[in-house]
Amino acid sequence: MRTIGHFIDNKPVAGASGRFGPVWDPATGEQAGRVALASPEEVDRAVAAAAGAAPAWRTASLARRAALLFRYRELLVAHRAELAGLITAEHGKVHADALGEVARGLEIVELACAIPEKLKGELSTEVSTGVDVASIRQPLGVVAGITPFNFPAMVPLWMFPVAVACGNTFVLKPSEKDPSAALKLAELAAEAGFPDGVLNVVNGDKPTVDRLLAHPEVTAVSFVGSTPVARAIQRGAVEHGKRVQALGGAKNHMLVLPDADLDLAADSAISAAYGSAGERCMAVSVVVTVGEATGDALVARLAERAAGVRVGPGGDPASEMGPLITGEHRNRVAGYVRGAAGQGAEVVVDGTGYTVPGHEGGFFLGVSLLDRVTPEMDAYRDEIFGPVLCVVRAETYEEAVTLINASRWGNGSAVFTRDGGAARRFQLEVEAGMVGVNVPIPVPVGYHSFGGWKESLFGDHHIYGNDGVRFYTRGKVITTRWPDPADGGVNLGFPQHR
Ligand code: NAD
Repeated sequence: MRTIGHFIDNKPVAGASGRFGPVWDPATGEQAGRVALASPEEVDRAVAAAAGAAPAWRTASLARRAALLFRYRELLVAHRAELAGLITAEHGKVHADALGEVARGLEIVELACAIPEKLKGELSTEVSTGVDVASIRQPLGVVAGITPFNFPAMVPLWMFPVAVACGNTFVLKPSEKDPSAALKLAELAAEAGFPDGVLNVVNGDKPTVDRLLAHPEVTAVSFVGSTPVARAIQRGAVEHGKRVQALGGAKNHMLVLPDADLDLAADSAISAAYGSAGERCMAVSVVVTVGEATGDALVARLAERAAGVRVGPGGDPASEMGPLITGEHRNRVAGYVRGAAGQGAEVVVDGTGYTVPGHEGGFFLGVSLLDRVTPEMDAYRDEIFGPVLCVVRAETYEEAVTLINASRWGNGSAVFTRDGGAARRFQLEVEAGMVGVNVPIPVPVGYHSFGGWKESLFGDHHIYGNDGVRFYTRGKVITTRWPDPADGGVNLGFPQHR
């Protein structure tokens, strides 16, 4: 069995804590390896490496940083199949989906290649006679990233390329459930020429994270994961005086209006609900239909398509949907489907009890479709994070939007319609950070920023794009005068323009 360690100062480092977590092969249900869980002392070692690298890295020229990132981008392209293979092996998602994850992460590296443009400051000349004012942004120092299991390569890539491009050094704590992709990302960064200590990876769990939050040399924390942990991370980071962005969970609604192209809406909902087995923070987990006829026609189309989703091992090119991350999570998701009928939902498609021949031990679940779900039901109230699509029936647009806006989450939301006026109204009225119009998963491209509202994000800054650059830098304003020797004289008054 493989033992997975850390990566500090551009070198693999074996775990020394004596604590390990299991890494499963979700397609077989067998343990494929074990990952070292870093002790506080091991975290200190990684932070010390990052702190040691920080003074030289913050003064590395923009040209050098950009050149390294270009080289890194090329290495990621060359190794994308390998990265996708690691993702499929430990996460379970199908290979094509894993390749897509790497491609979306690459976008952020490409954004980071443009860092000389992004870090251009502002200059006002002659704000007063002979006085100029410049606004610049400078790196923070050592920053930390804590990432979830569901995008083991993309979410780390949302963070460190921007942070490092801005002149910071980084300590990444990936999910202990699928740590290998993050380690590969760090190895490739070393190969690209990132100096020792600029990007470090410590694997671990809560004690590891707690030390990162408390460490005095960590200046900022980026977190992506579930809402309860995001909330706790924000509080912990603030308590220790750190800048923090903590992206949490979601329950994304897709509104289908009566005039929508229902075949397009059904295709989109199926892809967005069951892709990656529903383990996406931007998955569509609730479809809200307006009008009984729309609901009936859409549910019929969803049921037909759901029956055709091919579930199997992620490495099999015939599979469209892979297993869930762990057996425990699979059972939890199945519990929502089993409990739904008792709470009054119509179980149109029941994916529980699904097995894949030859892979009976795998963490598989078929897709499930629940109709006539209401906000009181557990399947609606909780983030299920599995291949379960709920349909909620509304009578009017107003009722639908009121329902969507009552959700405690506000990550993404989508509207399907042919009516431009209705779509415009929805995009202005819906309480979500990312909105799709006839686009079910509106994950912003790398040069815009990603972030939800309400319990989907704790902190002010969205992630990557311009918000990422702002998060990983702090502003400084410099007021300059080169006086003429004749301009002397004491004046105790508050400086005024002249
Ligand atoms: P999680 O919250 O369990 O774990 C995320 C990270 O936090 C991991 O690195 C984990 O080791 C660490 N962690 C877990 N418990 C902790 C604790 N008590 N204290 C400190 N650290 C802790 O999330 P997950 O199950 O890995 O990922 C799925 C969740 O992430 C879903 O809720 C999903 O919606 C969310 N997510 C959100 C986004 C977004 O952009 N908003 C993106 C991806 C995933």
